[in-house]
Amino acid sequence: MQIPFLDLKRENESYSDEIEQAIRRVVKSGWYVSGIEKDKFEKEFAEYCQVPYCVGVGNGLDALRLILEGYKQLGRIKNGDEIILPANTAIATALAVSQSQLIPILADCCIETFNISPQSVEESITSKTKAIIAVHLYGQVAPMAELETIAKKYNLLLIEDAAQAHGALLKGKKTGSLGDAAAFSFYPTKNLGALGDGGAVTTNDKNLAYIISSLSNYGSVKKYEHFYKGVNTRLDEIQAAVLSVKLKYLDENNQKRKNIAEYYSQHIKNKHIILPSFDEIESHVFHLYVITCDDRESLETWLSKQNIHTQIHYPRAIHKQSAYRELSRLKLPVAERLQNTILSIPLYPSLKKTEMAKIVDSINHFTF
Ligand SMILES: *Cc1c(COP(=O)(O)O)cnc(C)c1O
Repeated sequence: MQIPFLDLKRENESYSDEIEQAIRRVVKSGWYVSGIEKDKFEKEFAEYCQVPYCVGVGNGLDALRLILEGYKQLGRIKNGDEIILPANTAIATALAVSQSQLIPILADCCIETFNISPQSVEESITSKTKAIIAVHLYGQVAPMAELETIAKKYNLLLIEDAAQAHGALLKGKKTGSLGDAAAFSFYPTKNLGALGDGGAVTTNDKNLAYIISSLSNYGSVKKYEHFYKGVNTRLDEIQAAVLSVKLKYLDENNQKRKNIAEYYSQHIKNKHIILPSFDEIESHVFHLYVITCDDRESLETWLSKQNIHTQIHYPRAIHKQSAYRELSRLKLPVAERLQNTILSIPLYPSLKKTEMAKIVDSINHFTF
Protein backbone atom coordinates (compact mmCIF):
# COMPACT_ATOMS: atom_id res chain seq x y z
CA MET A 1 0.00 0.00 0.00
CA GLN A 2 1.44 3.31 -1.17
CA ILE A 3 0.22 6.32 0.81
CA PRO A 4 0.86 9.48 -1.19
CA PHE A 5 1.39 12.73 0.70
CA LEU A 6 -1.70 14.08 -1.05
CA ASP A 7 -3.93 12.43 -3.64
CA LEU A 8 -5.60 15.27 -5.55
CA LYS A 9 -7.20 12.96 -8.08
CA ARG A 10 -8.98 11.09 -5.31
CA GLU A 11 -9.90 14.38 -3.60
CA ASN A 12 -11.59 15.83 -6.68
CA GLU A 13 -13.20 12.57 -7.76
CA SER A 14 -15.77 12.98 -4.97
CA TYR A 15 -17.34 15.89 -6.88
CA SER A 16 -16.32 15.05 -10.44
CA ASP A 17 -19.91 15.10 -11.78
CA GLU A 18 -20.66 18.53 -10.33
CA ILE A 19 -17.25 19.88 -11.39
CA GLU A 20 -17.64 18.62 -14.95
CA GLN A 21 -21.13 20.08 -15.13
CA ALA A 22 -19.81 23.46 -13.96
CA ILE A 23 -16.98 23.42 -16.50
CA ARG A 24 -19.36 22.44 -19.31
CA ARG A 25 -21.62 25.36 -18.35
CA VAL A 26 -18.70 27.78 -18.74
CA VAL A 27 -17.49 26.23 -21.99
CA LYS A 28 -20.99 26.56 -23.46
CA SER A 29 -21.46 30.12 -22.21
CA GLY A 30 -18.77 31.50 -24.52
CA TRP A 31 -17.59 33.87 -21.73
CA TYR A 32 -14.33 32.90 -20.02
CA VAL A 33 -12.89 35.87 -18.09
CA SER A 34 -14.62 38.33 -15.70
CA GLY A 35 -18.18 37.13 -16.00
CA ILE A 36 -21.04 35.80 -13.90
CA GLU A 37 -19.10 32.87 -12.42
CA LYS A 38 -16.46 35.15 -10.88
CA ASP A 39 -19.16 37.51 -9.57
CA LYS A 40 -21.09 34.59 -8.10
CA PHE A 41 -18.08 33.02 -6.38
CA GLU A 42 -16.93 36.39 -5.01
CA LYS A 43 -20.36 36.90 -3.40
CA GLU A 44 -20.39 33.38 -1.98
CA PHE A 45 -16.86 33.54 -0.60
CA ALA A 46 -17.40 37.01 0.93
CA GLU A 47 -20.48 35.68 2.68
CA TYR A 48 -18.59 32.56 3.78
CA CYS A 49 -15.81 34.71 5.25
CA GLN A 50 -18.32 37.06 6.92
CA VAL A 51 -17.11 40.17 5.07
CA PRO A 52 -18.84 42.48 2.58
CA TYR A 53 -16.11 42.33 -0.10
CA CYS A 54 -14.20 39.65 -1.99
CA VAL A 55 -12.11 40.20 -5.12
CA GLY A 56 -11.07 37.13 -7.11
CA VAL A 57 -7.48 37.29 -8.44
CA GLY A 58 -5.05 34.99 -10.25
CA ASN A 59 -3.27 33.44 -7.23
CA GLY A 60 -2.35 33.91 -3.59
CA LEU A 61 0.88 35.78 -4.27
CA ASP A 62 -1.01 38.37 -6.31
CA ALA A 63 -3.69 38.63 -3.60
CA LEU A 64 -0.96 39.65 -1.13
CA ARG A 65 0.73 41.98 -3.63
CA LEU A 66 -2.51 43.74 -4.50
CA ILE A 67 -3.36 44.29 -0.84
CA LEU A 68 0.01 46.03 -0.37
CA GLU A 69 -0.35 47.96 -3.65
CA GLY A 70 -3.90 48.93 -2.70
CA TYR A 71 -2.73 50.38 0.62
CA LYS A 72 -0.04 52.31 -1.26
CA GLN A 73 -2.70 53.86 -3.46
CA LEU A 74 -4.69 54.72 -0.31
CA GLY A 75 -1.61 56.47 1.12
CA ARG A 76 -1.21 54.04 4.05
CA ILE A 77 2.11 52.56 2.83
CA LYS A 78 4.93 53.99 0.72
CA ASN A 79 7.98 52.50 -1.02
CA GLY A 80 10.70 51.51 1.45
CA ASP A 81 8.35 50.96 4.40
CA GLU A 82 8.81 47.88 6.55
CA ILE A 83 6.37 44.99 6.71
CA ILE A 84 6.72 42.34 9.44
CA LEU A 85 6.07 38.68 8.58
CA PRO A 86 7.07 35.31 10.03
CA ALA A 87 10.40 33.75 8.96
CA ASN A 88 8.77 30.32 8.66
CA THR A 89 6.25 30.71 5.86
CA ALA A 90 5.77 29.99 2.17
CA ILE A 91 8.19 32.13 0.17
CA ALA A 92 5.22 33.94 -1.43
CA THR A 93 4.54 35.90 1.77
CA ALA A 94 8.02 37.47 1.60
CA LEU A 95 8.07 37.83 -2.20
CA ALA A 96 4.85 39.86 -2.13
CA VAL A 97 6.56 42.37 0.16
CA SER A 98 9.83 42.53 -1.80
CA GLN A 99 8.07 42.84 -5.15
CA SER A 100 6.02 45.77 -3.82
CA GLN A 101 9.17 47.86 -3.13
CA LEU A 102 8.73 47.25 0.59
CA ILE A 103 11.16 45.79 3.12
CA PRO A 104 10.37 42.36 4.62
CA ILE A 105 11.21 42.19 8.33
CA LEU A 106 11.26 38.62 9.60
CA ALA A 107 9.87 37.74 13.01
CA ASP A 108 10.51 34.50 14.85
CA CYS A 109 7.77 32.02 15.67
CA CYS A 110 6.39 30.20 18.66
CA ILE A 111 7.82 26.69 19.20
CA GLU A 112 4.45 25.17 20.18
CA THR A 113 2.08 26.56 17.55
CA PHE A 114 4.62 27.32 14.77
CA ASN A 115 2.80 30.66 14.34
CA ILE A 116 4.40 34.13 14.45
CA SER A 117 5.51 35.25 17.91
CA PRO A 118 3.81 38.52 19.00
CA GLN A 119 6.81 39.28 21.21
CA SER A 120 9.18 38.97 18.25
CA VAL A 121 6.83 41.16 16.20
CA GLU A 122 6.87 43.91 18.82
CA GLU A 123 10.68 43.76 19.06
CA SER A 124 10.92 44.20 15.28
CA ILE A 125 8.91 47.43 15.08
CA THR A 126 10.68 50.61 13.93
CA SER A 127 9.46 54.03 12.81
CA LYS A 128 9.19 52.61 9.27
CA THR A 129 6.94 49.67 10.16
CA LYS A 130 3.55 49.96 8.48
CA ALA A 131 2.00 46.50 8.58
CA ILE A 132 2.09 43.00 10.02
CA ILE A 133 1.31 40.02 7.81
CA ALA A 134 -0.11 37.27 10.03
CA VAL A 135 0.15 33.86 8.36
CA HIS A 136 -2.31 31.25 9.69
CA LEU A 137 0.36 28.60 9.30
CA TYR A 138 -0.65 24.99 8.58
CA GLY A 139 -4.30 26.04 9.03
CA GLN A 140 -4.06 27.35 12.60
CA VAL A 141 -5.23 30.90 13.27
CA ALA A 142 -2.30 33.19 14.16
CA PRO A 143 -2.39 34.94 17.58
CA MET A 144 -4.69 37.66 16.22
CA ALA A 145 -5.81 39.17 19.55
CA GLU A 146 -2.20 39.89 20.57
CA LEU A 147 -1.30 41.08 17.07
CA GLU A 148 -4.32 43.38 17.00
CA THR A 149 -3.27 44.96 20.28
CA ILE A 150 0.21 45.58 18.84
CA ALA A 151 -1.21 46.88 15.55
CA LYS A 152 -3.45 49.36 17.41
CA LYS A 153 -0.65 50.49 19.72
CA TYR A 154 1.72 51.29 16.82
CA ASN A 155 -0.95 52.21 14.22
CA LEU A 156 -0.09 49.32 11.90
CA LEU A 157 -2.18 47.53 9.32
CA LEU A 158 -2.91 43.90 10.15
CA ILE A 159 -3.03 41.73 7.02
CA GLU A 160 -3.94 38.03 7.04
CA ASP A 161 -2.18 35.49 4.83
CA ALA A 162 -5.04 32.99 4.96
CA ALA A 163 -3.76 30.80 2.11
CA GLN A 164 -3.69 27.74 4.41
CA ALA A 165 -6.72 28.46 6.60
CA HIS A 166 -9.98 28.76 4.65
CA GLY A 167 -12.78 28.34 7.16
CA ALA A 168 -10.82 28.46 10.43
CA LEU A 169 -12.55 30.37 13.21
CA LEU A 170 -11.44 32.63 16.02
CA LYS A 171 -14.22 33.02 18.60
CA GLY A 172 -16.78 32.38 15.86
CA LYS A 173 -15.20 34.79 13.36
CA LYS A 174 -13.81 33.41 10.11
CA THR A 175 -10.31 33.91 8.77
CA GLY A 176 -10.55 36.56 6.09
CA SER A 177 -12.45 38.79 8.53
CA LEU A 178 -9.86 38.97 11.34
CA GLY A 179 -7.69 41.85 10.09
CA ASP A 180 -7.80 44.83 7.73
CA ALA A 181 -7.56 42.63 4.63
CA ALA A 182 -6.83 38.98 3.87
CA ALA A 183 -5.20 37.06 1.03
CA PHE A 184 -6.36 33.57 0.03
CA SER A 185 -4.88 31.08 -2.42
CA PHE A 186 -6.92 28.43 -4.24
CA TYR A 187 -3.87 26.52 -5.47
CA PRO A 188 -5.04 22.89 -5.96
CA THR A 189 -3.48 21.59 -2.71
CA LYS A 190 -5.11 24.18 -0.41
CA ASN A 191 -8.14 23.41 1.78
CA LEU A 192 -10.26 25.11 -0.89
CA GLY A 193 -8.45 24.27 -4.12
CA ALA A 194 -9.23 25.02 -7.76
CA LEU A 195 -8.13 22.95 -10.76
CA GLY A 196 -5.42 25.46 -11.49
CA ASP A 197 -4.31 28.76 -10.00
CA GLY A 198 -6.65 31.12 -8.19
CA GLY A 199 -6.73 33.55 -5.30
CA ALA A 200 -8.85 36.18 -3.55
CA VAL A 201 -8.72 39.19 -1.30
CA THR A 202 -11.37 39.62 1.38
CA THR A 203 -11.91 42.83 3.35
CA ASN A 204 -14.41 45.06 5.14
CA ASP A 205 -12.90 48.10 3.39
CA LYS A 206 -14.98 49.20 0.41
CA ASN A 207 -12.31 51.55 -0.98
CA LEU A 208 -9.59 48.92 -0.77
CA ALA A 209 -11.80 46.33 -2.49
CA TYR A 210 -12.58 48.79 -5.28
CA ILE A 211 -8.91 49.66 -5.84
CA ILE A 212 -7.81 45.99 -5.80
CA SER A 213 -10.54 45.04 -8.23
CA SER A 214 -9.34 47.81 -10.53
CA LEU A 215 -5.61 47.03 -10.07
CA SER A 216 -6.23 43.37 -10.97
CA ASN A 217 -7.73 44.42 -14.29
CA TYR A 218 -5.19 46.87 -15.81
CA GLY A 219 -6.23 49.58 -13.35
CA SER A 220 -9.67 49.78 -14.85
CA VAL A 221 -13.21 49.08 -13.73
CA LYS A 222 -14.73 50.59 -16.87
CA LYS A 223 -13.48 49.36 -20.23
CA TYR A 224 -10.68 51.53 -21.69
CA GLU A 225 -10.67 53.94 -18.71
CA HIS A 226 -7.52 53.40 -16.64
CA PHE A 227 -7.07 55.14 -13.30
CA TYR A 228 -4.11 53.06 -12.05
CA LYS A 229 -1.14 51.38 -13.71
CA GLY A 230 -2.61 48.00 -12.88
CA VAL A 231 -1.73 44.43 -13.72
CA ASN A 232 -3.62 41.46 -15.13
CA THR A 233 -4.40 38.91 -12.42
CA ARG A 234 -7.97 37.64 -12.54
CA LEU A 235 -9.83 34.57 -11.28
CA ASP A 236 -11.04 33.00 -14.52
CA GLU A 237 -14.57 31.71 -15.08
CA ILE A 238 -13.75 28.00 -15.08
CA GLN A 239 -11.82 28.20 -11.79
CA ALA A 240 -14.59 30.34 -10.23
CA ALA A 241 -17.24 27.81 -11.29
CA VAL A 242 -15.19 24.92 -9.85
CA LEU A 243 -14.62 26.84 -6.61
CA SER A 244 -18.37 27.48 -6.22
CA VAL A 245 -18.89 23.71 -6.30
CA LYS A 246 -16.09 22.98 -3.84
CA LEU A 247 -16.98 25.80 -1.41
CA LYS A 248 -20.19 23.91 -0.58
CA TYR A 249 -18.08 21.06 0.81
CA LEU A 250 -15.40 23.10 2.56
CA ASP A 251 -16.81 22.85 6.10
CA GLU A 252 -17.46 19.13 5.73
CA ASN A 253 -13.90 18.62 4.46
CA ASN A 254 -12.39 20.73 7.21
CA GLN A 255 -14.30 18.58 9.72
CA LYS A 256 -12.81 15.44 8.14
CA ARG A 257 -9.35 17.00 8.45
CA LYS A 258 -9.97 17.73 12.14
CA ASN A 259 -11.14 14.18 12.77
CA ILE A 260 -7.97 12.79 11.21
CA ALA A 261 -5.85 15.23 13.21
CA GLU A 262 -7.57 14.19 16.44
CA TYR A 263 -7.03 10.54 15.56
CA TYR A 264 -3.32 11.18 15.02
CA SER A 265 -3.04 13.20 18.22
CA GLN A 266 -4.70 10.45 20.24
CA HIS A 267 -2.87 7.50 18.72
CA ILE A 268 0.64 8.61 17.82
CA LYS A 269 2.78 7.74 20.83
CA ASN A 270 6.52 7.88 20.38
CA LYS A 271 8.97 9.53 22.78
CA HIS A 272 11.06 10.84 19.86
CA ILE A 273 8.15 12.71 18.31
CA ILE A 274 6.40 15.90 19.33
CA LEU A 275 2.84 16.35 18.10
CA PRO A 276 1.45 19.70 16.93
CA SER A 277 -0.30 21.68 19.65
CA PHE A 278 -3.46 23.70 19.34
CA ASP A 279 -5.83 25.40 21.78
CA GLU A 280 -9.24 25.51 20.17
CA ILE A 281 -10.09 22.90 17.55
CA GLU A 282 -12.30 25.49 15.77
CA SER A 283 -9.19 27.62 15.19
CA HIS A 284 -7.36 24.92 13.22
CA VAL A 285 -8.39 23.51 9.83
CA PHE A 286 -5.30 21.26 9.49
CA HIS A 287 -4.07 22.22 6.07
CA LEU A 288 -1.04 20.28 7.30
CA TYR A 289 -0.31 18.01 10.25
CA VAL A 290 3.27 18.78 11.21
CA ILE A 291 5.20 16.69 13.73
CA THR A 292 8.72 17.37 14.97
CA CYS A 293 11.55 14.92 15.55
CA ASP A 294 15.21 15.56 16.41
CA ASP A 295 16.26 12.95 13.87
CA ARG A 296 13.87 14.06 11.15
CA GLU A 297 15.98 12.49 8.39
CA SER A 298 15.75 9.00 9.87
CA LEU A 299 12.02 9.34 10.42
CA GLU A 300 11.55 10.45 6.83
CA THR A 301 13.55 7.48 5.55
CA TRP A 302 11.76 5.05 7.86
CA LEU A 303 8.32 6.18 6.68
CA SER A 304 9.33 6.24 3.05
CA LYS A 305 10.50 2.60 3.37
CA GLN A 306 6.94 1.75 4.44
CA ASN A 307 5.61 3.62 1.39
CA ILE A 308 4.37 6.57 3.43
CA HIS A 309 5.23 9.82 1.68
CA THR A 310 5.94 12.93 3.71
CA GLN A 311 6.98 16.51 2.96
CA ILE A 312 8.69 19.38 4.78
CA HIS A 313 6.97 22.76 5.10
CA TYR A 314 9.37 24.44 4.91
CA PRO A 315 12.92 23.02 4.75
CA ARG A 316 14.41 26.54 4.89
CA ALA A 317 13.25 29.64 6.71
CA ILE A 318 13.01 32.70 4.46
CA HIS A 319 16.39 34.12 5.55
CA LYS A 320 18.04 30.78 4.69
CA GLN A 321 16.86 30.91 1.06
CA SER A 322 19.38 32.09 -1.53
CA ALA A 323 16.82 34.57 -2.84
CA TYR A 324 17.10 36.32 0.54
CA ARG A 325 20.87 35.95 0.96
CA GLU A 326 21.03 39.54 2.22
CA LEU A 327 19.16 38.37 5.36
CA SER A 328 21.28 35.26 5.94
CA ARG A 329 22.96 36.68 9.06
CA LEU A 330 19.67 37.14 10.90
CA LYS A 331 19.29 35.02 14.02
CA LEU A 332 15.82 33.56 14.41
CA PRO A 333 16.47 30.54 16.62
CA VAL A 334 13.02 28.98 16.76
CA ALA A 335 12.39 29.16 13.00
CA GLU A 336 15.91 27.81 12.38
CA ARG A 337 15.43 24.94 14.79
CA LEU A 338 12.06 24.03 13.28
CA GLN A 339 13.32 23.93 9.71
CA ASN A 340 15.51 20.97 10.73
CA THR A 341 12.97 19.02 12.80
CA ILE A 342 9.51 19.43 11.18
CA LEU A 343 7.84 16.79 9.05
CA SER A 344 4.37 16.96 7.44
CA ILE A 345 2.55 13.62 7.35
CA PRO A 346 -0.37 12.78 5.01
CA LEU A 347 -3.66 14.43 6.05
CA TYR A 348 -6.47 15.03 3.57
CA PRO A 349 -10.23 14.47 3.62
CA SER A 350 -10.19 11.33 1.46
CA LEU A 351 -7.52 9.58 3.54
CA LYS A 352 -8.84 6.13 4.49
CA LYS A 353 -9.05 4.61 7.99
CA THR A 354 -6.65 1.82 6.96
CA GLU A 355 -4.14 4.41 5.73
CA MET A 356 -4.43 6.45 8.93
CA ALA A 357 -3.90 3.30 10.99
CA LYS A 358 -0.83 2.32 8.99
CA ILE A 359 0.65 5.82 9.37
CA VAL A 360 0.14 5.75 13.15
CA ASP A 361 1.54 2.25 13.44
CA SER A 362 4.62 3.07 11.38
CA ILE A 363 5.35 6.23 13.36
CA ASN A 364 4.86 4.42 16.67
CA HIS A 365 7.41 1.80 15.65
CA PHE A 366 10.04 4.35 14.67
CA THR A 367 13.19 4.43 16.74
CA PHE A 368 16.73 5.73 16.39
C1 LIG B 1 0.20 28.85 -1.08
C2 LIG B 1 0.58 30.00 -0.25
C3 LIG B 1 0.76 31.29 -0.81
C4 LIG B 1 0.80 31.55 -2.27
O1 LIG B 1 -0.33 31.18 -2.98
P1 LIG B 1 -0.21 30.90 -4.56
O2 LIG B 1 -1.63 30.80 -4.99
O3 LIG B 1 0.55 29.65 -4.73
O4 LIG B 1 0.47 32.08 -5.17
C5 LIG B 1 1.02 32.34 0.06
N1 LIG B 1 1.13 32.16 1.38
C6 LIG B 1 0.99 30.94 1.95
C7 LIG B 1 1.11 30.82 3.42
C8 LIG B 1 0.73 29.82 1.15
O5 LIG B 1 0.61 28.62 1.73
